[in-house]
Amino acid sequence: MNVCTLVIRVIFAAKQTILRMLNVVLFGPPGAGKGTQSEVLLQRYGLVHLSTGDIFRYNIKNATELGQQAKAFMDKGELVPDSLTISMLESEVVKHPDPKGFIFDGFPRTSAQAEALDKFLASRNASITCMLALEVDEEELIKRLLNRATTSGRADDADESIVRNRITVYNRETAPVAGYYQSCGKYCGVKGVGTVEEITARLCAELDAFAH
Ligand code: AMP
Repeated sequence: MNVCTLVIRVIFAAKQTILRMLNVVLFGPPGAGKGTQSEVLLQRYGLVHLSTGDIFRYNIKNATELGQQAKAFMDKGELVPDSLTISMLESEVVKHPDPKGFIFDGFPRTSAQAEALDKFLASRNASITCMLALEVDEEELIKRLLNRATTSGRADDADESIVRNRITVYNRETAPVAGYYQSCGKYCGVKGVGTVEEITARLCAELDAFAH
């Protein structure tokens, strides 16, 4: 095989990988329903669900060094620093050798995380297919989180001042990330109010449109 054929084959293989994978950023403020909807979408599309919040909580429960570092920030409703979060996310992605794709839930939450994710996926011949953003108004979010605290056992759901801080942090540091995906035509806002099934149907309609 000559060099030219080899190069064409490598490019073609890379393109096939990009086309085959479905990588979704499920976006939205705390309490928007990202976890609930991720569970449904991962079943329907055969995707790997990566929730950075869940991974941090797993590390806290298992008293790892990462868990100890993250806990101080999570207890206050602040973001865990980018350096810790990005390296953790990358090490989770590489645990899945041939995935159909990923649902990124709770990541990226800063512009630096969004840029790092793009670079990292590109190094693996992959890319983000789309960002689906669940839209829910603030008072509804607070109601949902305080209500979730009764079953989630999460301290950061139970205290209204921490809940409000999480939403403030979201508005300040995370909401601008939507602009990053808007600028490359990958953003889609979805009404996050209604029954679980209604919201799932809206998400699937948008996802199918991006996937084809
Ligand atoms: P969540 O389960 O998505 O609501 O996240 C719970 C907490 O974990 C957040 O309030 C942050 O303290 C931390 N966290 C989760 N994901 C990230 C992220 N991508 N960047 C920084 N901190 C995060």
